[in-house]
Amino acid sequence: VPEIKMRTEGLMKKYGATTALHPVDLNVHTGELLTLLGPSGSGKTTLLQLICGLTEPGGGELFIDGINKTWAPTHQRDIGVVFQNYALFPHLTVEENIAFPLQMRRVNAAEIRTQVARALDMVGLAGFGHRFPRELSGGQQQRVALARCLVYQPSLILMDESLSALDRQLRENMQVEIKRIHRETGATIIFVTHDQEEALALSDRVCLMNAGRIEQIGTPVEIYESP
Ligand code: ADP
Ligand code: ADP
Repeated sequence: VPEIKMRTEGLMKKYGATTALHPVDLNVHTGELLTLLGPSGSGKTTLLQLICGLTEPGGGELFIDGINKTWAPTHQRDIGVVFQNYALFPHLTVEENIAFPLQMRRVNAAEIRTQVARALDMVGLAGFGHRFPRELSGGQQQRVALARCLVYQPSLILMDESLSALDRQLRENMQVEIKRIHRETGATIIFVTHDQEEALALSDRVCLMNAGRIEQIGTPVEIYESP
């Protein structure tokens, strides 16, 4: 029986009359890479936002490492998030962008230097620390966002269609990168996409979503071979 990193019990969300997410029970195993796959409007982003605490649930519960985090603020969830649009600070250098979450946690300067260098190295951007985001390509900016998430070594990482802004070749490169980082960090990763090929290529398991519900969950082979 796999260890459970995160689980939801009847977690749901309404916006007025719209049910963005019907009550879902989801178990995410420790160390797995799970993709949420589904068309636009199927509730993927809503589920991700509920997991990281960016929106309040309309009901149900969320447990991380067996602890009830349903109402815990984002910074008490030990979750790294990489958003769709990178959300880098344009007026800060690459190094300063990556250092930001550590400064928020009052980590000392020497430790920050060490951890920032390590994170830059992990995403293949050693030597780019003094540049500004506008001086980087889309793919490089994406890597900075990933480094900023990795820098405080979260055990659970959420990624929201973070590859969608990139062209095909860059997406494939990032897929390789994400698999490597998954292997090296042993982190549990929940990855949102509407690209079936990407989901099948990346995941240990795929969670198929439609109209605010989980329709199916299984390994890529199980999903692919089901009627
Ligand atoms: P995607 O389909 O790529 O997840 P969307 O365009 O559906 O992106 O959503 C982008 C953002 O807009 C999300 O933060 C979502 O919560 C918000 N959003 C989506 N639909 C609505 C809506 N009908 N009214 C207000 N905000 C919405
Ligand atoms: P996905 O990420 O799969 O595209 P979302 O979770 O963004 O789906 O949206 C699920 C449903 O909830 C959609 O019908 C969307 O329009 C609605 N929705 C999402 N965010 C908001 C919001 N902030 N306000 C109103 N409706 C929203």
